[in-house]
This record gives sequence, structure tokens and C-alpha cells, in this order.
Amino acid sequence: MAQVYNWQLGRQMDYRFPEAHPDRQFAAVFNINRCIACQTCTMACKSTWTFSEGQEHMWWNNVETKPYGGYPHHWDVKLLQMMNRYAPGQSWDVAQADEKKAPYGVFDGQTIFEVASNNNLPGVAIGYIPPDDEWTAPNIFEDTPRSRGADPAPAQLPEHKTWFFYLQRICNHCTYPACLAACPRNAVYKRPEDGIVLIDQERCRGYRKCEEACPYKKAIYRPSTRTTEKCIACYPRVEGSDPLTNGVPMETRCMSACVGKIRLQGLVEVNADGTWKEDPTNPLYYLIREEQVALPLYPQFGTEPNVYYIPPRWVPRDYLHQMFGPGVDDALARYEAPSRRLMAVLQLFRASQTIIFNFEVKEGPKIRDVNLNGKTWSIYDDTVVGYDKNGKEAVRVSVQQPFFERPAQYLNSI
Ligand code: SF4
Ligand code: SF4
Repeated sequence: MAQVYNWQLGRQMDYRFPEAHPDRQFAAVFNINRCIACQTCTMACKSTWTFSEGQEHMWWNNVETKPYGGYPHHWDVKLLQMMNRYAPGQSWDVAQADEKKAPYGVFDGQTIFEVASNNNLPGVAIGYIPPDDEWTAPNIFEDTPRSRGADPAPAQLPEHKTWFFYLQRICNHCTYPACLAACPRNAVYKRPEDGIVLIDQERCRGYRKCEEACPYKKAIYRPSTRTTEKCIACYPRVEGSDPLTNGVPMETRCMSACVGKIRLQGLVEVNADGTWKEDPTNPLYYLIREEQVALPLYPQFGTEPNVYYIPPRWVPRDYLHQMFGPGVDDALARYEAPSRRLMAVLQLFRASQTIIFNFEVKEGPKIRDVNLNGKTWSIYDDTVVGYDKNGKEAVRVSVQQPFFERPAQYLNSI
């Protein structure tokens, strides 16, 4: 195995191939706090890519209810339990946090690749192939809550005593994809221009090694073709070659369709060593690296996933720590009382289908002061302007949404 640098873990790790990074990386931020589980994203994807024979149970995008739900059933709990058998007590050394090379500290445990190599397990990563019946429901246990038990103390906001939340899932187009490392036919590849991970259907022989190794279970077997398929990040839209896009990179179907305005997708520039080029006016770079309000899902798996989540405010912190790592408390503190700049950038979510490459904030007047946990927090009517790949203005939106109050005499007319 080669040694590669994983900035989410703050250290080198084992991987089948040596470092090779794309010029830009497909990335997205999902704000869990805003999702209403309408599944519009799920259906936008399904009706575009997976409506054919053999794809009946294939959902490249799914939204599942945590903590009990999962597609396939219990995918994360099963893998975490397997990993725990070989490498119990995984932890992070947050004292070694470094803004550039190790923003969340250093992971002291073992990744899916290291558990396999350290324990002489077969394959490049610890994993499993879910049985067919575990793929049947994309949102099993929908809206089933968990209670903290018979604790007589009243719930203290923001954490709720009885809770659940929706987790939006697509392929993470990982920096170190387990699917790619596991494929004996080298049918899985990562595009050098945008880091999108694809499976060459001509090369694939359906050995399902990618499905076994992907810790997120986002490579899915199709019995009618005997090949494995996965999310393709709507690459014709992202590269601007879909006729709809007029040549300008456009967000994927699931992002564009999002009713809750929870999704923002983009492309970040990557250095030759895999670190992200400093680009504080790229909204993705700003949210993930500068403000650090959005975090990777199960970074401890070691694939360096490129979908990031703003964690849900009302969920017990211990649950969130195991899911999003040690950055949770800081991320939530920043989200609960956003800086002026963050407040503006949060307005960009679902404001345009065009991929925003850069943004600027134009300052507006103060709207009001609010008392937040004993501190004064001010809200301003700033305007955020988003620019496309060519530097052309794509969207302009203000913090205070314009509204029209219908005059009393027209109350019931249209
Ligand atoms: S999420 Fe899974 S299928 Fe997608 S790139 Fe990562 S390892 Fe591969
Ligand atoms: S469309 Fe948006 S709000 Fe609706 S389920 Fe999908 S991510 Fe959630």
C-alpha cells in the first residue's frame, strides 16, 4: 500500500494507489437543519438516471431518517461494529489541530483500509455486501424518533430529548475512493478535471468488490446488466455540456431540485499534494475550510468524502461526534450565531442552478439586535452576489427577503 495524506484525518494513511489529485474537486454542502425529507431530490435523481429495468431498488440519492434508518439498512452501524471488533476505542487528538493540514486534529484510530491491512483481512478495505432485502427501502424507519429515556429533566434547547433527523446521501466522490481501490478490473476511475468518480460499464464485470468496500454503500449492483452502477454527479451538467446549461457548469439534478434549499454544490481547486487551494471567495471553500461550519460524514472511514454536512442543532452531541468527528461543537457554535459573512453565504443555497465559483458580500443596514444565550447578536440586510465560472453574475440575494403585503381592500383577490 502507498502512503497518502488525508487532511480530514490530519495524517498520512495507507491507500492502494499513490497520491494523484484532480485540478478541481466536486464538493457539496448539505444543511441538515433545513431538510424536510420531501424526497424531491431522490425523485429528481431517480427519474433522470435509475428508472430502468434492474434499477428498481437503486437510489443514487436517498434521504434516510437517523438514528434508525439507513439505505441499505443499518449500513453505518454494521460497518462501525465491524471496525470496532478490530480497532476498538478510535479517538482523535484535537490538540494537534492545524488550520491547513489538520483542521479537526489528528485521527488516532484506523481507517477502513488500515483495519484491513493491519489485520490481514482479504481485500483493500474492511466491508461487506448487503443482502438483497437490505436494499428495499430508501427511508426505512421514516420519522421514527429516539428518546433519551425517562429523564425527568425538561429538554434543554437546542438538544431535544426525543429526536431524529434526516440524512441526505449521495456518492461522496471521495478523494481516496474505496470503490476505486477495491476494483480488480480497474473499472472505477476518478476524473482529473473534477474528481467525479465513475464506473466504466464496459470494463465492469459485476464482481461487487466496490460495493463491498464502499463504506457509504453508494456503489449498487444492477442484476439486469450484471454490473455495478453509482451516482455520476450529473457530470454533463457539471461540465456544462448538457444543452440545458448553455455551456456554464450547472448543479446536479438533486441539488437543483431541493425544496428545502439545503444544498449547495460546487468545485474547489486542489493543489498537487491534495490540499485545497486557498480560495476564500469560493462558497464551498469558505463554508468547509474557512468557517468550518460543514463537516465530512464519518471521516474516520478514511476515504476523504467530499460531501459536507452542517450538523443538526437538536441532536445529542455524542451521536453527532461519532458521525461528523470532533469539529461538531465549533461548527454548531458558528451556525447558531453566524458571522455576518456566513449569514450572507447561507442565502446562496438553492438560489441558482448555476454553479457559483466565487461570491462577494455587499454590506447593508442593520435589521436588529437579538439576545442569543446572553450575548447580543446583530443581523444585517447584506446582499450576497454569486459569480459563475466565467466571472459573470449568476445570482444576487439579500438576507432580508423582499416581501409584498397585499392591501386590505384586495385581501381575497388575485
Ligand atoms: S462514496 Fe463510495 S462509491 Fe462514492 S466515491 Fe466514495 S467509496 Fe466510491
Ligand atoms: S429535496 Fe432537499 S429538503 Fe427535500 S428531501 Fe431532498 S435534501 Fe431534503
